[in-house]
This record gives sequence, structure tokens and C-alpha cells, in this order.
Amino acid sequence: MSQVISLHRREEELIKEIAELSEQNFYACYQCGKCTSACPLTFAMDEPPHQILRFLQLGQAKRLIESRSPWACIGCLSCATYCPKGVDLARIMEALRTVHLRRLDAPFCYTQDDGERLSTLPQSALVAALRKVTW
Ligand code: SF4
Ligand code: SF4
Repeated sequence: MSQVISLHRREEELIKEIAELSEQNFYACYQCGKCTSACPLTFAMDEPPHQILRFLQLGQAKRLIESRSPWACIGCLSCATYCPKGVDLARIMEALRTVHLRRLDAPFCYTQDDGERLSTLPQSALVAALRKVTW
């Protein structure tokens, strides 16, 4: 029982950290799915963009920082452009990558190919960091 409570607390902390880093309100999302329709990289994701928001709303952060989807995201902003609620998913994806990299106990980073393990910083993290300073 105490293990369940500790996992729940840990998930709450992760959700808070992702919200602070991304500065996005997860609860504004009403699951219309436009972000997923607009995303050109869903084929490489294990969780589609609208599902990422749903898991965040449900407090299921651990499965997201272990997900391949944030590493497939190229930060193109199509999702944010089409979202009727102004949710910027690209920022959430970047926050998920950051939280993942901050926790060295997280399993590993993915490429866009199924399960390929990386021992160095993934390219998508470098591209996202570069965009942050050039936008
Ligand atoms: S487009 Fe916006 S409101 Fe619709 S599912 Fe995606 S994040 Fe949620
Ligand atoms: S920013 Fe990422 S999640 Fe959004 S549409 Fe582009 S690739 Fe997909």
C-alpha cells in the first residue's frame, strides 16, 4: 500500500514539474484530437499527441517520460497551431524530454525507430534546444 502511495506522490511531482517547465494548462484540453491529426510524426510515436494530454490530465506521468513520443517530436508546432484551446504541445514534449534527461534512472532515450537504444543525447533534444535559442 505504501508503495502505491509513494508512486502516486512521485507521479504528482512529475506532473507538477512538467507543468512548470512547459507553462501549459493540461486541463484546457478537451480531447478534440486536432493536434494528432495535424502532427506529421504520429507514425513514429507510441502515444499520439492528444493521448499525451489525456495521460497528463489523469496524472500518469511515468508512462510518458518512458514514452518514445517526445523523442519523435520535431517541434514543428503544427499541433499548437491547430489547437482550439491554445495548448502548446511542442512545449510539453520538450518538458517531457527534459524531465526524462534529468532522471538518470529513466530507462533510456529512443530514436524514431522502434526501441533503438541511444547512449548519447538524442538528435531531437539538440534540435529542440537549438530552436529555443533561434526562435
Ligand atoms: S488540439 Fe488541443 S484541445 Fe484538441 S486534443 Fe489536442 S491539445 Fe487537446
Ligand atoms: S510539435 Fe511535435 S507533437 Fe506537435 S505536431 Fe510537431 S511533431 Fe507533432
